[in-house]
Amino acid sequence: GTGDAAEDALIERRRRLLGPAYRLFYAHPLHVVRGQGVWLYDQAGKAYLDVYNNVASVGHCHPVVVEALSRQAAILNTHTRYVHEGILDYAEKLLAEGPPELGHLMMTCTGSEANDLALRIARKHTGGTGIIVTELAYHGVTGVLAELSPSLGPAVARGPHVRLVPAPDGYRGEGDVGARFLAGVEAALADFADKGIRPAALLVDTIFSSDGVFADPPGFLASAVAAVRAAGGLFIADEVQPGFGRLGTGMWGFARHGLVPDMATVGKPMGNGHPVAGVMTRPEVVAEFGRDIRYFNTFGGNPVSCAVAGAVLSVIKAEGLVENARATGAHLMAGLRRLGRKHDLIGDLRGSGLFIGAELVTDRARKTPASAETARLVNDLRERGVLISATGPFANILKIRPPLVFRPEHADIFLGHLDEALAAI
Ligand code: PMP
Repeated sequence: GTGDAAEDALIERRRRLLGPAYRLFYAHPLHVVRGQGVWLYDQAGKAYLDVYNNVASVGHCHPVVVEALSRQAAILNTHTRYVHEGILDYAEKLLAEGPPELGHLMMTCTGSEANDLALRIARKHTGGTGIIVTELAYHGVTGVLAELSPSLGPAVARGPHVRLVPAPDGYRGEGDVGARFLAGVEAALADFADKGIRPAALLVDTIFSSDGVFADPPGFLASAVAAVRAAGGLFIADEVQPGFGRLGTGMWGFARHGLVPDMATVGKPMGNGHPVAGVMTRPEVVAEFGRDIRYFNTFGGNPVSCAVAGAVLSVIKAEGLVENARATGAHLMAGLRRLGRKHDLIGDLRGSGLFIGAELVTDRARKTPASAETARLVNDLRERGVLISATGPFANILKIRPPLVFRPEHADIFLGHLDEALAAI
């Protein structure tokens, strides 16, 4: 129990009503009732610094976004079988942020639907079925995507047309990251060829979040993408995590690698909490799909979602949040490096902009995962009013991924608590 009878009753009520498949964060679950900017608040009014939430990207309850949502909700909300400027205005605005090759936008409600649609389009265009993902990928909740999401664990079966490749781990792996990643992809392609499976796509999260956050060196993805294309497959960039400026180098993770994908899927921060997602695609890739298959997503691209997503994009531009991700990310990384010189538990620091992984080890030479210590640290920070989580195969990598309105003064608050929590371990 939490030591609080009312909280225990709520948790029991959840279990009774929602069933067994859900998980709460933290040993001492957090009950929040309000959010603003980078802060969440509990019932007692205690503030928690959100260093984790990449969905509320422009800040919790941003007034411009809330206003756009409520204004459009009071005027009209219907679907894409009627003509409406909302989706066109948004498509123009979003596609202008991407490379000119990505000329169409198809809208969905979730990142999962976007990835699912992208796979259908890729299979239709290539005539292939084989999909390559990383060893600890997460791409979504549908049946097809669960088979492509090995981070869910061994209980979820992998499909016969799925191949896993090692993550581009520059900390634990030896030698050139790009060459190693390419070797994994080439082995997967060779195995497809062996089994008579034609490749449809390489699908990767361009910041490799669930694999453990792997950003460097920029460009390491390019040779693997070229190999997939040479074998007749497409490159689908899953931008659900890195997209919309988080990496501080521009709007998209694929651009850090000097690549233009065949499709890019977007979601999470796109609506700052409102469910809106989509696929940006090269027109030639979606031609066969559009010719033969009717696509209608009841809620995808509705006027309210488009108003919200448009407001989010406007805020990112107006508040200079890509530049802030770069500058505050650099400030945060410098502070983490200082802590790294003080605390042996910090084995590696990596990332880009406001997407940072801090890998904790009990022995720097052996790189022994500090899984228990990481769990303790995450829970200690929660008690101190700082929210982060852990990722990677051993759950020993702190995932530091705050809203993009995180400023240097917020980073300093976080670093102060992290320093004390590390000292206490
Ligand atoms: N791709 C990645 C990389 C994700 O992290 C997620 C969500 N965690 C998804 C896809 C699925 O998005 P959604 O939960 O909106 O369906």
